[in-house]
Amino acid sequence: MNPSPEWYRPPAQILADLGIQEPADIDIEAIAEDCAATIRYQPLSGCAARIMGYKDRAIITIDKDCYRPRQRFSGGHELGHWMRDRGQVAFQCADKSFDQEWSADNPETRANRFASDLLLPGKMFRRYAHQKPPTFDSVQELAEIFCTSLTATAIRLVEYGELPAMLICNGPEKREWYVPNGDLRNKLWPELRPGTGSIAYSLLNGHGKSFSPRDVGAGEWVNDRNAHNYWVREDSRLLSNGIVLTLLWWKDETQLIDIDNAIEEQGSWRSDFRRE
Ligand SMILES: [Zn+2]
Repeated sequence: MNPSPEWYRPPAQILADLGIQEPADIDIEAIAEDCAATIRYQPLSGCAARIMGYKDRAIITIDKDCYRPRQRFSGGHELGHWMRDRGQVAFQCADKSFDQEWSADNPETRANRFASDLLLPGKMFRRYAHQKPPTFDSVQELAEIFCTSLTATAIRLVEYGELPAMLICNGPEKREWYVPNGDLRNKLWPELRPGTGSIAYSLLNGHGKSFSPRDVGAGEWVNDRNAHNYWVREDSRLLSNGIVLTLLWWKDETQLIDIDNAIEEQGSWRSDFRRE
């Protein structure tokens, strides 16, 4: 990543400068003013938000018809452009930037990360997410506290939650992105598309609109060769734009323990081999 420009302040610093310690105090308009940007609301077509900067001031325009969590996230996202990419031409950001740009390294992803760190600050979020299971009921509860979208909140719960989980976003045609938490990183990778026995498959193919979380074979989701021996708790939601978000929770951790043991055995086999 480029070195930070001199006007850059990370979200944690901005919140600390304003003395913000609780979710209810994360006032996006006041924060924007503190960063020399004014937020205004008006009808927009073709994009959900835009920013126009001139010298050291900016105007952020947000679609007045978006729902409140999306408006706040748009504000945080445009502020991310303002802090990171000032001096470039104006940005216009479509709704899909907020749901689909999470894994590549580009200005949209960086702006989404900035918005997340501002609206769902790690330390504060961990306090509220403590011991919450990775399900959409937990996500909804946290999204109400932080006034944030389901997608942004679910990503946070996977990243900062204490239980082994993965969030996967599937569009109608392809997988868009996935976020594993620390327990799964470099151990398990999702298949390109969910298996036919998954809830997500049913949602993507119009076989129902909502399902309760249930245990499905891990082989429906991950490409580990022994996956058919294990279960994973799946909770999937169909979003309005045809996207399906899935939270996978290794409630039964046997698969992860077995993978750890296999890695350990491989490691000791390698060190025996080196000794000979
Ligand atoms: Zn953008």
